[in-house]
Amino acid sequence: IVQLYAPLNWFGTYYRMIQQSFIDMENMFDLLKENQEVKDDPNATEMFITKGMVEFNNVSFYYDPSKPILQNITFVVPPGQTYALVGPSGAGKSTIIRLLFRFYDIQEGVIRMDGQDIAMVTQSSLRQQIGVVPQDTVLFNNDIRYNIRYGRVSAEDEDVENAARAADIHERILSFPEGYKTMVGERGLKLSGGEKQRVAIARTILKAPNFILLDEATSALDTQTERNIQSSLGKICENRTTIIVAHRLSTIIHADQILVLKDGQIVERGTHEELLEKEEMYANMWNQQLTRAEENKEDEDETTEK
Ligand code: ATP
Repeated sequence: IVQLYAPLNWFGTYYRMIQQSFIDMENMFDLLKENQEVKDDPNATEMFITKGMVEFNNVSFYYDPSKPILQNITFVVPPGQTYALVGPSGAGKSTIIRLLFRFYDIQEGVIRMDGQDIAMVTQSSLRQQIGVVPQDTVLFNNDIRYNIRYGRVSAEDEDVENAARAADIHERILSFPEGYKTMVGERGLKLSGGEKQRVAIARTILKAPNFILLDEATSALDTQTERNIQSSLGKICENRTTIIVAHRLSTIIHADQILVLKDGQIVERGTHEELLEKEEMYANMWNQQLTRAEENKEDEDETTEK
């Protein structure tokens, strides 16, 4: 009985973990309502990553046939490089990230990682290679240690703490009432947006994936928090193939390549400097953000003067 029980129990835990990870992912991408079932191909193989290249080849996609979303998207992210997706709301940026994670199958074209069609590998082996830092991180009703260890459940306490250090949240955790044993989530200590994001970064550091997908938070964080987060993100993304959905252009000026999306198409691509020189859509977006930043600064100055 004991022998039988142990594997079943293990299976239960494992199953719940996968379920939870789905809930986590669904939340991540606001997919709670409709998450289409994507099935492994009967001949699916394990994905095997050696270099870390991402390729979208002529990809077209719709959620509903009446409304095409992505049209003929083609780009290649060379191993270790950082590409940024920018563009107006609804352009299809998050959709590209969802497709990489294979939440949906595409209708045309092919998405490859190191030459392997992601529709022909097992979803588990695909997702194992990818670390996601979402806009809004979901915390489990458990202690903070569990929440970070979630990135790699086999990690030792020491690894968890090192990851927390690298994500610049270790000291903060030590100041919690029960340190790493402090309960967080809905029924525990509430963490700020910036703290939750750092938990997601610590998880990703533990996972050490070949690919990182980053959905930048729209809500502005205070300047110091923003700087800390940028620096820990910089550390994990270094030498890892990274795709960032960026809302604040200031965070991606060093990206190897910026893809500007509009109505599901790539309308401009290049480095920050190249795109500014073009004086088209990206340059306009950049100037608008500068103006807005200056206006905010004036507002702040006025408030301080009072
Ligand atoms: P934002 O900057 O606002 O996050 P985005 O560029 O990331 O926007 P997407 O979230 O990729 O845009 O959405 C692209 C289009 O697809 C939008 O018109 C959106 O309404 C539509 N869309 C997104 N998710 C679904 C879905 N699950 N079912 C149907 N349509 C969807």
